[in-house]
Amino acid sequence: MNGAYHLRCRVCEEVTEPAPAVACHRCDGPTDVAYDWDRLTRTFTREAMAGRPETLWRYAELLPAGARVDVGAGRTRLVPCEPLSDLLELDLYLKLESENPTRSYKDRIATVAVSAALDHGVTTVCCSSTGNLGDAVAAGAAAMGLEAIVLVPEGSASAAVEAGRPGVHVLAVRGTYDDCRRLELELGSLFPWGFVSGNLHPYASEGAKTISFEVAEQLGWRLPDAVFCPAASGTLFAKLTQGFAELVRAGLAPDPLPRMFAAQALGSSPIADAFADDRSISRVRSSTGIASLAVGNPSHGDLALGAARATNGAIVALPEDEIAAYTELLSETTGVSPDPSGGAALGALVTARRSGLLEAGAEVVLVVTGRRPRSRVDGPHVTTIDPDAGDVLSALGLGS
Ligand SMILES: [Zn+2]
Repeated sequence: MNGAYHLRCRVCEEVTEPAPAVACHRCDGPTDVAYDWDRLTRTFTREAMAGRPETLWRYAELLPAGARVDVGAGRTRLVPCEPLSDLLELDLYLKLESENPTRSYKDRIATVAVSAALDHGVTTVCCSSTGNLGDAVAAGAAAMGLEAIVLVPEGSASAAVEAGRPGVHVLAVRGTYDDCRRLELELGSLFPWGFVSGNLHPYASEGAKTISFEVAEQLGWRLPDAVFCPAASGTLFAKLTQGFAELVRAGLAPDPLPRMFAAQALGSSPIADAFADDRSISRVRSSTGIASLAVGNPSHGDLALGAARATNGAIVALPEDEIAAYTELLSETTGVSPDPSGGAALGALVTARRSGLLEAGAEVVLVVTGRRPRSRVDGPHVTTIDPDAGDVLSALGLGS
């Protein structure tokens, strides 16, 4: 392998050259990006970092793309939060992912997804979204002249912002998010497109760990004592942990890793349930009304579980009324209107303090993942379809 990175199977450890691939060709296991550590430690240093551009690509050695798409994602502020620090007897910082171009950390995912699409000659990018991912992918793809196909459950409050941009097709699917994912899977067997949760996922998900790189850099290349975030698919939580571990491995920040804590919603808590019962993940039928937390079959569930256990953290489930109250509290404190998943993370923090799991005086970072989606999916630029590949083709003007 001569490249700076390759793909490695999480199960059988088969290593392959980078390509859009849904799974390992040998065992069908999920694949992750793996980097050439001998090479990257020569240039990935604190000193080198000082002179680099204020984009995600200042961490290029640990990102899987040659084409460096920049739509302004990342470099969000890390701000001290005095009211909640006083209340909880902590040193609390908020990482304000609402400052990204489409108002959520999903812009980081979309940036790397679109870059990987360009690297591999993919001209159409497709994703399923219940919240902010659709906006981010549509914006990133449109900026680079790619086609974007965004599948959203009919009636969801997302993706409308970017509807109407050239090359962006927002399709409201009569069904649930899971129906959108099934349709995405079907389209994946039919078309050479890039799928953010499919063949582009190993690359795209790497974008999330740039939050960890920024947090450490903003703290003067230190790691906080603990980090709190929401968990739906578990990808953000697993990638944040991976990001901190990579900084330690590269020598940019000292041990130990932060204790990693995540929040789920009761009714959609397969990772929290597995953590509480000390077992592996069992998929559930999601019944929460909080769209951004409604994932019953978490793609990174096992990795998230491992991250919480290895760092002496925890993954907890909270009832929706508590999440609503903490979302309101976070809104009053920050002045932004956060997605309820940010409120869930705050709920986990309060729970950890009350139970004594987290000691007073700890330095804590809470990831405010994004703003509440602002508008419903409707209007002249949105086509409503059944969850059927033929309907997608008709909507795109490709059908017979
Ligand atoms: Zn394999």
